[in-house]
Amino acid sequence: MEKHWIKKVRYLPNIVCLVGAISLALGLVECSNIGEKATIIQEPLPYKMDALKPYISEQTMRFHYGKHYAGYVDKANQLLKTGGFEGKTAEEIIALTAGKKEYTSIFNNVAQAWNHAFFWKCLKPGGGTINAEVADRIIKSFGSFDKFKQKFLEAAKSRFGSGWTWLVLDGDKLKIVTTGNADTPIAHGLKPLFTVDVWEHAYYLDYQNRRADYVRQVLNHLVNWDFIASRLKSKQA
Ligand code: MN
Repeated sequence: MEKHWIKKVRYLPNIVCLVGAISLALGLVECSNIGEKATIIQEPLPYKMDALKPYISEQTMRFHYGKHYAGYVDKANQLLKTGGFEGKTAEEIIALTAGKKEYTSIFNNVAQAWNHAFFWKCLKPGGGTINAEVADRIIKSFGSFDKFKQKFLEAAKSRFGSGWTWLVLDGDKLKIVTTGNADTPIAHGLKPLFTVDVWEHAYYLDYQNRRADYVRQVLNHLVNWDFIASRLKSKQA
């Protein structure tokens, strides 16, 4: 009996390799996930660096995307080299490290990388037109489109220090929330639909201390309504 068990164990790695090889051949497993450390990808900017001007300058984008965001991605990957999160997605790492003192640096850098990747998608040169379903949800939740903008602006202004202002789905309700520093709604069971980065690095070169002017211009000219519509429909966190 014992001998039989040993024999089985000895053949197990071969079986695992075979299944792995077949999966690879069929394209079922991504090569990058096999035996590698967790990595955070710097997502490409979905428009040119100068595409958001005059509301957000090329200079701001060069620093914000090229230095601040790139810095969070680099630092996250450096910290993740210590191991423990192999094969995990950014969302999973955020869930595993949120609120845990020993993982503060990993949480801060991975969450900032996630928040920024999300933020780039929330903006669109010219903004585009609002989808009827999104407009309907906003009016039902906030009374009117103007009241939504006013509430979002108030929230952005009242966030003390660095952080983010968000439109989120809480269950099936639309809400406006703010988070401090790197914190993110996905660590609190809320589904982000839209965000504006209100760290000073996001607006200081263009607006100096006028955070409200920056947020107002983003809301009036740069909201990617199609992205919000797709987030409302998607099952993703
Ligand atoms: Mn930022």
